[in-house]
Amino acid sequence: MLNTDHFWMPFTANRQFKSKPRMLVAASGMHYTTDDGRQILDGTAGLWCSNAGHCHPKITEAIRHQAGKMDFAPVFQMGHPQAFEAASALVSLAPEGLNRVFFCNDGSEAVDSALKIALAYHRVRGDGMRHRLIGRERAYHGVGFGGIAVGGIAGNRKHFGPALPGVDHLRHPLNIAKNAFSKGLPEHGAEMADELEQRLLALHDPATVAAVIVEPLQGSTGVILPPKGYLQKIRAICDKYGILLIFDEVITGFGRLGTPFGADYFGVVPDMIVCAKGLTNATVPMGAAIVRQDIHDTFMSMAPENTIEFFHGYTYTGHPLASAAAVATIDVYKSEHLFERAAAMAPYFEQAAHSLRGLPYVKDIRNLGLVCGIELDGVPGKPGMRAFDVFLKAFWEKGVLIRTTGDIIALSPPLIIEKSQIDQLFGAIGDILKTQK
Ligand code: PLP
Repeated sequence: MLNTDHFWMPFTANRQFKSKPRMLVAASGMHYTTDDGRQILDGTAGLWCSNAGHCHPKITEAIRHQAGKMDFAPVFQMGHPQAFEAASALVSLAPEGLNRVFFCNDGSEAVDSALKIALAYHRVRGDGMRHRLIGRERAYHGVGFGGIAVGGIAGNRKHFGPALPGVDHLRHPLNIAKNAFSKGLPEHGAEMADELEQRLLALHDPATVAAVIVEPLQGSTGVILPPKGYLQKIRAICDKYGILLIFDEVITGFGRLGTPFGADYFGVVPDMIVCAKGLTNATVPMGAAIVRQDIHDTFMSMAPENTIEFFHGYTYTGHPLASAAAVATIDVYKSEHLFERAAAMAPYFEQAAHSLRGLPYVKDIRNLGLVCGIELDGVPGKPGMRAFDVFLKAFWEKGVLIRTTGDIIALSPPLIIEKSQIDQLFGAIGDILKTQK
């Protein structure tokens, strides 16, 4: 009998879980296997991360090979080829001009790295007044102190004091009253971006702001899509006032929207992209900040050649196993045309998602690429309970893994999902909703 006492589980109702554990023991392609031998269709790519499906043989083999050849090598004043190869592979997917990569171990570290690069960049080029950072309500930027400061989830912030000084937040652009059941990008709400300029002028002095960070599509708090033209406006305002724009693409990166990055989908190029998850198909932890070349070059030009230009890094930056996994993963994305596949499957996914409209408690359905949010009317006085109940029934009775945040069901399957599996996923949710009390 497995002892579940000692592992303090993250973002989990520990006591509820341990009273009836949901245990996964193996994975392949679109499925997990449970400890009682059931197959579970993965409707969430793990945690928005196993984009190429589970245990892809080419990725597994690359990790196995690297583990046997060189387990670890430092990248402080030393190097190993895998990290450089991984950086080049990542740049081959990135928008033009974003071609310098700072590696770390996950999305949270990637966010903190990007924020530090932004602050240090302004300081290095002699504009040290720019110390403010701007995020958004309902943003998730991981759990580091930088990430929770610019993030906008009260539960992630309230116990930890003022994580960083000088941070402000824009409101999120979700507007169900005007945009309910939009297919793809909402029509209404681009003007929400004007709030950025208003805040800059009314409160902060734009010359004190270092960076604005946004998820192009807010995933973790329930699939909040940017209204048409919204991101373009944010970009224009940042440009007008010399503020760096950071896209947190931890979820939208690596084909989730049918393009390498959300930046490609939206046609808006930020100054830095933060990514993780799909970078290694979630096999070995790795995150990265992809940086515009001239930002990087500013650091290089401002310090004597024998000195460290940027005082930041992790023991496992560019870890050989993660780097090998990243190279193999990016190769799989390209050779199996998985981003194109996701784009081709998106209309079918959209249709299936919206087929749930009209079922009991369904308040809104939002979708883009292979992402969908189904917002439910909650049980009065018990926020999150209705969706969590659907989650439990999906797992125990339907053999389907979904994810919930509050009373919103969020779906983000691996990009290899078949039409019949899309039917199974939404069919299961539909069946559960029909019988929901
Ligand atoms: N940023 C975004 C947009 C995310 O969705 C996440 C995780 O879901 C993170 C950052 C944090 O990533 P990690 O959990 O790898 O630290």
